[in-house]
Amino acid sequence: MSELPYPYEAPVSQALFDRAAAVTPGGVNSPVRAFRAVGGTPRFMVSGTGPYLTDADGREYVDLVCSWGPMILGHSHPEVVAAAQAAVARGTSFGTPGEGEVALAEEMVARIAPLEQVRLVSSGTEATMSAIRLARGFTRRAKVIKFAGCYHGHVDSLLAAAGSGVATFALPDTPGVTGAQAGDTIVLPYNDLEAVQEAFHRHPGEIACVITEAAPGNMGVVPPLPGFNQGLKDACEKNGALFVSDEVMTGFRTSRAGWFGVEGVVPDLMTFGKVMGGGFPAAAFGGRADVMAHLAPAGPVYQAGTLSGNPVATAAGLAQLRLLDDAAYDTVNAVSAKIQALVTEALAKEGVAHRLQTASNMFSVFFTDREVRDYDDARRQESFRFNAFFHSMLAQGVYLPPSSFESWFVSTAHDERALDRIAEALPAAARAAAEASA
Ligand code: PLP
Repeated sequence: MSELPYPYEAPVSQALFDRAAAVTPGGVNSPVRAFRAVGGTPRFMVSGTGPYLTDADGREYVDLVCSWGPMILGHSHPEVVAAAQAAVARGTSFGTPGEGEVALAEEMVARIAPLEQVRLVSSGTEATMSAIRLARGFTRRAKVIKFAGCYHGHVDSLLAAAGSGVATFALPDTPGVTGAQAGDTIVLPYNDLEAVQEAFHRHPGEIACVITEAAPGNMGVVPPLPGFNQGLKDACEKNGALFVSDEVMTGFRTSRAGWFGVEGVVPDLMTFGKVMGGGFPAAAFGGRADVMAHLAPAGPVYQAGTLSGNPVATAAGLAQLRLLDDAAYDTVNAVSAKIQALVTEALAKEGVAHRLQTASNMFSVFFTDREVRDYDDARRQESFRFNAFFHSMLAQGVYLPPSSFESWFVSTAHDERALDRIAEALPAAARAAAEASA
């Protein structure tokens, strides 16, 4: 901490982090929470209200992470909390079908035209894992195309890195994934349709599906170039493969029908999580009814879950979705635009080279002067500037994602007071970014 340009200010969080490290690898239950990219002490949060989080040291932050997307109505929204409390009072899990899961599925299907059927699961990882299995079972093919920099959860076959040269088979991206698991994955540069066509050409009749983030937010925000998603869809159709659009992050966030509602490209399968769970573990995959009919017990492709369609999670998710009308999206979009303008203004004033990229109300700042179109571009940014920026904002009570490779998320609860606090913090943070050195 000593080399960082701000005082050490989180003794209770630090003590909790030390305790956590004794019983949990790295002290966290999901790696990005450990602040390894930016350094310093992760803040242990104890409560959240509207746009604010309060940490164990009693400090309040304007939250621009929103639990990595789910909290689109802000924290502790009274109607979502009430729905969850009412559900808890009726019992927390039955292991039987229940009306709540039907109602949530109906709400999702009503919002997204190509979503004819859905299966509920408990995490985005489970959703993409199951969608891939279904695509393989449906097409009776093995290979999957994914894009470098797109994250689809920690599915073994999708934790793959590009081999040498475009369209070669991927290599495991982490110990524990075998060559065989990664070997059926083809990792291509994002926004590169030619690479996709070339891969289909090299592997006729072998590719089960292309999976892509509908609009990537996991390498920072890198929107699809015009025509890219449609080109993927067309290439899949031409070659008998399925087009799988991962809307875990974008779903019910970027519009009432997610990224599909923004762009209108029709996928064969889609995956969801985050917003649809209202802050609880609920996720889903779905799409064409004829494809979903291959799923057990209707069809032969096995998939199951003890807590799938959990009554508390579905009640909270349904309450959240029902509150997300056009006016709510107008509010989130307006909040996002205001924050984007403030960030751009502050960085420009200090002469900091940056690109602010957006996908609807999702956005992130790359510390580079070049457009970022794929993961290689994203990695060329000056992340050390982000780290200085991040810590200055944190010290001033604004909680940003602790990595320059993440989207920022806002909510309907980010009001004028919250925006004022962001505006007040930005000049010093921009100065810190300008003065940072590698
Ligand atoms: N897909 C995308 C696009 C994601 O952003 C994420 C998580 O951030 C996942 C899948 C995995 O979801 P989960 O963390 O719920 O397993």
